[in-house]
Amino acid sequence: MIVSERIAQISASPTLAMAAKAVAMKAAGENILSMSLGEPDFPTPIHVKQAVKDAVDADLSHYGPVPGTPGLRAAAAKYMSAWAGKTELFAAEDIIVSVGAKQSICNAIETLVGKGDEVILPTPCWVSYSEMVKLAEGMPVFVRTTMDNDFILTPEVLEAAITPRTKVLVLCTPNNPTGAVYSAKNIDALAEVLLRYPQVVIIADEIYNQICYTGTCASWASKTELLDRLVIVNGVSKAFAMTGYRIGWLACKDKAFIKACTRLQGQQITCATMVAQYAAQKALEGDLGCVADMTKAFERRRDLIVKLAKDIRGWKVRSPKGAFYLFPDVTGLLGMYAPADSAYAKSRNTTLVANADDLCEYLLVDGHVACVSGSAFGEDTCIRLSYACSERQIAEAMQRIRAAVERLG
Ligand code: PMP
Ligand code: GLU
Repeated sequence: MIVSERIAQISASPTLAMAAKAVAMKAAGENILSMSLGEPDFPTPIHVKQAVKDAVDADLSHYGPVPGTPGLRAAAAKYMSAWAGKTELFAAEDIIVSVGAKQSICNAIETLVGKGDEVILPTPCWVSYSEMVKLAEGMPVFVRTTMDNDFILTPEVLEAAITPRTKVLVLCTPNNPTGAVYSAKNIDALAEVLLRYPQVVIIADEIYNQICYTGTCASWASKTELLDRLVIVNGVSKAFAMTGYRIGWLACKDKAFIKACTRLQGQQITCATMVAQYAAQKALEGDLGCVADMTKAFERRRDLIVKLAKDIRGWKVRSPKGAFYLFPDVTGLLGMYAPADSAYAKSRNTTLVANADDLCEYLLVDGHVACVSGSAFGEDTCIRLSYACSERQIAEAMQRIRAAVERLG
């Protein structure tokens, strides 16, 4: 079969690909520590698990409304309003529930972006945005943020990237992969530029908002003057350790957008899984103490990994302020050589570690630690390590990486 040109140009998700590779190596008997996939290792909170059982017993087994159950939409609206520090900022009808935040973002892009429309993506950025834009036949416009500026997009760089064809800006805070968190001041500065360009819609991916180590993470929803062109994305995957439930949502005050996006979803999936929607509702309505506890654990892990990473030769490290990723600059190691007797050398014609992809391959086959190359996120001098795993695993992985890096010459 010949696949369509549109799909042929989409690359596979490198985060999922690396995770699958690590799983396959483990299944083949290799002792691999995986720091590739960004998903909490904690079990889903007990009251949420109970909700699933209740939902099954209550026969929540039929189709539901396309944009989500009234209960979850109302709970999400309340949750999002509270985060922005405003009661009733969002109402249930401003919310569309989808199969994970990934689908919410994809739907938003599909709804807004047409052929040739430009979408500004500050890099490093999550692997899927650009492919979603291409799927919509839009044009990703990458603008670089740098470690020296804590990977924060500046108003000057944003303004320089805006053209009459710019349709959307996608911003992620706390950021995957950099761990950067936009302060209220950073958001204000960008908002000042955006107010001058009313054609630009902002998709704010705030899926990691609970996992923030600098106090409450500022939300784009607090920018009421932009509210008519803001799409805010969130979900239960990260905050509630519910990645496999596949429930995310978007919030938007623009009724025409909600109507169109609902129409799209109605032709795509009918609705997200009813049992999972009920569980997500109970997660949002329940005690958020479990979320705070998980965030505290992530913070301890962050402190540990940063401390250990600072000891690794050739790495430049910034302490992440949110999410659960470390994104060290590894320029100091590029151009070095793996030992001639290494598994890396045996599997290739060269011992040269030329770029971040090579380094990840070397760390995988010789260090037995799976990381993701920064090239997947648009920054090929860095690599990403997910520290959503136990402190013991972090310590062991960093020790393996340190030893493997010491063998480079
Ligand atoms: N946005 C970012 C930045 C992510 O890292 C992820 C990870 N999966 C998602 C969205 C999608 O989350 P979900 O599991 O809800 O689809
Ligand atoms: N968002 C996570 C990550 O970046 C999960 C994988 C994915 O959806 O890309 O690793």
